[in-house]
Amino acid sequence: MNDCLFCKIIEKIIPADIVAENENVLAFKDIDSKAPTHILIIPKNHIESTLELTGDNINILGEMGLMANNIAKTEGIDEAGYRWVINTGINGGQSVYHIHLHLLGGRRLGWPPG
Ligand code: 5GP
Ligand code: ZN
Repeated sequence: MNDCLFCKIIEKIIPADIVAENENVLAFKDIDSKAPTHILIIPKNHIESTLELTGDNINILGEMGLMANNIAKTEGIDEAGYRWVINTGINGGQSVYHIHLHLLGGRRLGWPPG
């Protein structure tokens, strides 16, 4: 049995506030939002992190990006700007090991990250 939290959200075993979905990609609100808009975009196939991206599965990143941009438009944050973030591993700050793209916006975000 796969013990991955985000796989359980995909399977609808754990509830989430889903904002968009297609055959390959799911988007839902982050449970602990760090900005007025904070949405996670994930592949429906389990990929642990960016380290597992290969020539065979890299296209999923494009699909995730397109969904993020569509959501940015429907959320009305596209004109003002927004940020994509993917954390990898311990130094990257990854806490859930199912690759996810954070879509953050709705306020001026700081840089550099902490
Ligand atoms: P990471 O730190 O791995 O880049 O991001 C994981 C994100 O998942 C965090 O921003 C965290 O708030 C979010 N998260 C953790 N558990 C849940 C959950 O059960 N539901 C939702 N919607 N988000 C979660
Ligand atoms: Zn998973």
